[in-house]
Amino acid sequence: TDLENELRAAIRTIPDYPKPGILFRDITTLLGAPRAFRRSIDELVHPYAGLQVSKIAGIEARGFILGGAMAHQLSAGFVPIRKKGKLPHDTVRVAYSLEYGVDEMEMHRDAIMEGESVILVDDLIATGGTAEGAVKLLRQMGANIVAACFVIDLPDLGGRKKLEDLGVQVRTLVSYE
Ligand code: 5GP
Repeated sequence: TDLENELRAAIRTIPDYPKPGILFRDITTLLGAPRAFRRSIDELVHPYAGLQVSKIAGIEARGFILGGAMAHQLSAGFVPIRKKGKLPHDTVRVAYSLEYGVDEMEMHRDAIMEGESVILVDDLIATGGTAEGAVKLLRQMGANIVAACFVIDLPDLGGRKKLEDLGVQVRTLVSYE
């Protein structure tokens, strides 16, 4: 589509970052392009306008940028999901798998109430390990996860399937095979 073409043109690909053999999809160029940024947010929130979504949960760090804009547009609150040790109040914590090894992420315990409708957002889904961790945190607090949204899907790495198998609806704007 026209939007996909605009996004592909706005996303920069960096070879061998952060490691040899990796093609890193850099969205800073998309964030810096006024029209492509706006259209991305519009497209991400479009299905949820008028649906009484109560919170957007964004994954550190690029999910904060997208999630803040989405929250504004949906008149929702914003909840940060962060690497361990960064949040000042009582947290729930979960271990999640990375390509090599594991890490932990946290959310404030009082950030989501039982039964609240939440949309999860990050810039990109690859293996889905990061988003799966976030889904566990949100569900632990009793959230109703309306959808998980990403600008970029790397379908070969299976993340979308992993989330769908958990019963989460996945929405992405552009995919790179
Ligand atoms: P996953 O846990 O799905 O394997 O990896 C997704 C996480 O790693 C996301 O938080 C995402 O921001 C980051 N990530 C992995 N590869 C890339 C990439 O090529 N570009 C960007 N922008 N983020 C990536």
